[in-house]
Amino acid sequence: MSRVAYVNGQYVPHSHAAVHVEDRGYQFSDGVYEVCEVWRGQIVDMTAHLDRLDRSLSELQIASPMSRAALVQVMKEVISLNRVKNGLIYMQVSRGVAPRDHYFPPAGTLPSVVMTAKSVPAGKMDKVAEQGVGVITVEENRWDRVDIKTVGLLPNVLAKQKAKEAGAREAWFVDKNGLITEGGSTNAWIILKNGTLVTRPATHGILKGITRAGVLKLAEMKGFSVEERGFSLEEAKSAQEAFLTSASGLVMPVVKINETILGDGRPGPIVQDLRKSFHEASELIKLEVAGG
Ligand code: PMP
Repeated sequence: MSRVAYVNGQYVPHSHAAVHVEDRGYQFSDGVYEVCEVWRGQIVDMTAHLDRLDRSLSELQIASPMSRAALVQVMKEVISLNRVKNGLIYMQVSRGVAPRDHYFPPAGTLPSVVMTAKSVPAGKMDKVAEQGVGVITVEENRWDRVDIKTVGLLPNVLAKQKAKEAGAREAWFVDKNGLITEGGSTNAWIILKNGTLVTRPATHGILKGITRAGVLKLAEMKGFSVEERGFSLEEAKSAQEAFLTSASGLVMPVVKINETILGDGRPGPIVQDLRKSFHEASELIKLEVAGG
C-alpha cells in the first residue's frame, strides 16, 4: 500500500512529496519539528507535543501555520491515509519559501508544513529493549538553544553515526563540566543503587522531552524518588540501571556505556517496569480511522 504525505495543503504520494529548493528549512535549517507516537490507534501525548511545537515556533518567531484544530485534523488524516495503528507521525514547520537571504523573509510569507506517518511493527522496539542498547559519549558541541526542537540536527547526526560505527545505538553529549546533557535523539537517565531516578533538569542544555515528562509522572505515580540534576560519566558507569527516553523508543534500557557493562549487562527490573507501564501516564487520543 502506498504512503501519503501532507505538503502545504495537499495530500500527495510519499514518493513525490517535495518542498521548494528555496524552502528555508532546506537552506538554513530554519524550521522546527515534532515526532509523536501512534500506539494502538491512539496519538500519544498529542497536547504536549503541540504545545512544544507552539513554543519552538514562537522562540524562532515563526508564525503558526494553522489553528491547532486544523493541525490535529491533518495529523489524523495523515495517520488514517497511511493506515497507521502503531508507528510515528512526523511534522515539520519551516519559515517558508523565499529567495535565499539570511534575513527573515517578507511579512506574509507562509510557513511550510510537512507531515508524514509511518507504521512501526508492534513489538519492534520491544525486541531492541529486551536486549538493551549501548551508548558512547561525545563532546557537547551544539548551540545553547537545544531546548528549541529545530531541524538543525547536524551535531546529532554526526554523534549518532559515530555511535553506530562503534556498535552502539546512541551517543550521549558531555558538557564542559563533565556532565551528560542528553543523547542525539533521546533524553538520558540513570538509576542509582538506592533506586533513585536521576535526569538532568530541563532548564538548560537539553530538549524537554515529552517522554521524559511522561516518565517523571509515572515515577511519581509509582512512588519512585527522582532527582533532577546533572550526572557525570563516572556516576553513570556505576549506576544500577540507565535508560533513554524518546517518543520513538519510549523507555529504552542502556546496558553499556562506552566500554563499561552496566550490572550484568541485561536490562534491569526498574527500567523494564517503567517501559511496560509507560502508557499509563500518557494522554491517549483515540483515532476514528476512516475505512480501517
Ligand atoms: N532529545 C533530543 C535531542 C531529541 O531529538 C529527542 C527526540 N525528538 C528527545 C530528546 C526526546 O524527546 P521526546 O521524548 O519528546 O521524543
